[in-house]
Amino acid sequence: MSIVVDPVATAGRHAAPADPRTAPDPRTDTDTPADARWLRRAVDLATANVADGGGPFGAVVVAEGVEVAVGQNRVTRDLDPTAHAEVQAIRAACRAAGTFALDGMTLYTSCEPCPMCLAACLWSRVDRVVFSADRHDAGRGGFDDSVFYELLARDRVTWDRTRVTALRLPESTHPFDAWLTHTARTAY
Ligand SMILES: [Zn+2]
Repeated sequence: MSIVVDPVATAGRHAAPADPRTAPDPRTDTDTPADARWLRRAVDLATANVADGGGPFGAVVVAEGVEVAVGQNRVTRDLDPTAHAEVQAIRAACRAAGTFALDGMTLYTSCEPCPMCLAACLWSRVDRVVFSADRHDAGRGGFDDSVFYELLARDRVTWDRTRVTALRLPESTHPFDAWLTHTARTAY
């Protein structure tokens, strides 16, 4: 399983010459017209969501050219800081497909996934993630995507917010011991 994250240009300033070191994996080659069409769907969902009182983010999960599910940012409406468009779309796609793994599917999102959503994409096992606007566009809108990416690149002891500490207990590994001895476990 591999995830390919493709920014697709919707404005000329995003265009860049192909670099063989960063070119899309030929096994999951980008179908540009279809990608652009699905991305426009995500962007339209994002724009419409603003009028509905939500954040300016939308996402679509697609399998073999068919829309599986969509998601729109519901953070303020649902009082849920994790209700980002990508997470909403992944949850809806899993419900629609009756699975917890979205292998073979592509997630289109109106904006570059934040670190949480990118991790959600990894956990969901989607084949590809295609985004339009980037973390800098999000920053212009007042969103912390770029700030969080910079934070994650730093040693956690230097963080000035949400301090993260480890406290090793004698029973720290008990949950994993229980998991490994539970023969009927569902691996994921
Ligand atoms: Zn996010």
